[in-house]
Amino acid sequence: FDKVAEDRQLTLADVGGAREARADLHDVIGFLKDPARFKKMGARCPAGVLLVGPPGTGKTLLARAVAGEAGVPVLVASGSEFGEMYVGVGARRVRDLASKARAHGRCIIFIDEFDSIGGKRGRPNRTSEEDLVRRPGRFDRVVEVGMPTAADRLEILKVHAAKRPLDADVNLQELSTLTVGYSGA
Ligand code: ADP
Repeated sequence: FDKVAEDRQLTLADVGGAREARADLHDVIGFLKDPARFKKMGARCPAGVLLVGPPGTGKTLLARAVAGEAGVPVLVASGSEFGEMYVGVGARRVRDLASKARAHGRCIIFIDEFDSIGGKRGRPNRTSEEDLVRRPGRFDRVVEVGMPTAADRLEILKVHAAKRPLDADVNLQELSTLTVGYSGA
């Protein structure tokens, strides 16, 4: 689970729409860039940010863009990796991830499918590794990432069309209104 950011560093220019999420994540970028400036003011970096929204709305993209803007690496893990049925395996994965992150200093740990950790249906007893990750107070911020509006869709289409050849009669505005209700993915 330690795929450090793939091909290239993304920035917020790679994200279309999601205006509120961007605004919410702005100070996280500031903090990652220059933690000393915030600490001097007695501020604490949000340790855990929960990105909530339907699949394909750009949560992974936003995490990578935030890291790219701040110039820090991203460690990617999936929540399903922690809910191991073998005792100790999940806990070891959590510890591995934490020590890798520490070695990087400033970085983002992105945990996909976070809702697959703990509280699974038919599994009333959470395991210790699940508690390790979901301890209360871990997440001091919730950022909602909703389905894009028509205006958001236009921005998303522009992001993806920017580096591609398009016929002269392609009308992104029209396409955006035809695809309302679709996620960015
Ligand atoms: P999530 O993590 O919310 O399931 P992803 O970030 O994995 O969604 O989105 C998958 C892909 O869809 C992205 O890599 C990107 O190509 C495209 N995409 C989704 N939302 C956006 C957006 N707001 N702007 C640009 N591209 C987007």
